Amino acid sequence: MMGRVLWAPEVFNCSAPDTGNMEILAQFGTPAQQERWLRPLLEGRIRSGFSMTEPMTPGSDPTQLKTRAVRDGDAWVLDGRKWFTTGAMHASVLLVVAVSDPEAPRHRRVSLFLVPTDAPGVTILRSVPVLGHISSPGECEVEFKDVRVPAGDLLGAAGEGFAVAQARLGPGRIHHCMRAVGMADRAVEMMARRAATRTVVGGLLAEKQMIQDFIARSRIEVEAARLLVLHAAWTMDTAGKKEAWPAISMAKVLAAQTACRVLDRAIQVHGGLGVTDDVPLAAMWRYARILRLGDGADEVHKAKLAEHELRRWR
Ligand SMILES: Cc1cc2nc3c(=O)[nH]c(=O)nc-3n(C[C@H](O)[C@H](O)[C@H](O)COP(=O)(O)OP(=O)(O)OC[C@H]3O[C@@H](n4cnc5c(N)ncnc54)[C@H](O)[C@@H]3O)c2cc1C
Repeated sequence: MMGRVLWAPEVFNCSAPDTGNMEILAQFGTPAQQERWLRPLLEGRIRSGFSMTEPMTPGSDPTQLKTRAVRDGDAWVLDGRKWFTTGAMHASVLLVVAVSDPEAPRHRRVSLFLVPTDAPGVTILRSVPVLGHISSPGECEVEFKDVRVPAGDLLGAAGEGFAVAQARLGPGRIHHCMRAVGMADRAVEMMARRAATRTVVGGLLAEKQMIQDFIARSRIEVEAARLLVLHAAWTMDTAGKKEAWPAISMAKVLAAQTACRVLDRAIQVHGGLGVTDDVPLAAMWRYARILRLGDGADEVHKAKLAEHELRRWR
């Protein structure tokens, strides 16, 4: 239901990136961190951001991150630049991934820091326009310059940043999947309603086989994606978040691609109206298209799935 209306997740306080951030604050936060950040997040009084991706390093390979955290007495000093920190404009706290020990083994180099957005040295440089559109919470570019973070504001232990971030991704992704299915479902409904009322060249669009093919194929694809997402959620509940990663990756790839395809057809059936902001299809398509990159590009998930599958048969 949340995906059918783009602003619903914010109203019901289950939107990205807050849900994922709340999950790891609940799992790894100290009582003091939970009191300061988790409670107001749960009560919907503040918003948060997750700052991992950087403009100069590939988000698909976070072992190359450049943002540094250097220990100085009872604090860490952060320096670096992030972008695509969703929601930073309205956030009170950012969960920042930074390299705290460059000499450690690759997966033990980074830590996760809780950084208030009003801390000295934090500058939100801009909201990066995405597909020609600037969202109000922002896909933000953020600079961290000599930002002092008290040692107690580390989320999880030093060197465990990847493990904590990984714990965030599964739950975050399944929420994205559910929203994608909701959007695609609404697109099928809108496509059918439009086809049933628009008369073109002597007949309703609904009577034309090409349009019927759009509608039927879209319904088949939405139901297939819905079942895969439900399966991923069930696997998370029964086997655990970690073990569920292949199911989550499969659902993430299929749900985002399905939403893109179905929304594209719905736009086509609506003609010019479909690409205007008078109907929500264009905004939903933008969201679905972005989903093929955010929280892991399709190819990253497919590479991991192929590796997993090949290991079974080699
Ligand atoms: C709208 C939006 C919101 C976002 N929100 C956040 C956020 O809140 N916080 C945050 O930290 N990040 C966020 N991101 C960043 C997102 O996670 C990264 O864009 C994504 O991980 C890809 O990283 P990159 O952009 O650096 O592309 P790169 O890592 O440079 O990858 C480019 C392309 O290379 C290909 N590729 C990568 N790896 C492989 C592989 N193994 N095999 C084959 N092909 C491959 C893929 O096609 C990929 O799209 C957001 C991104 C977008 C677009």
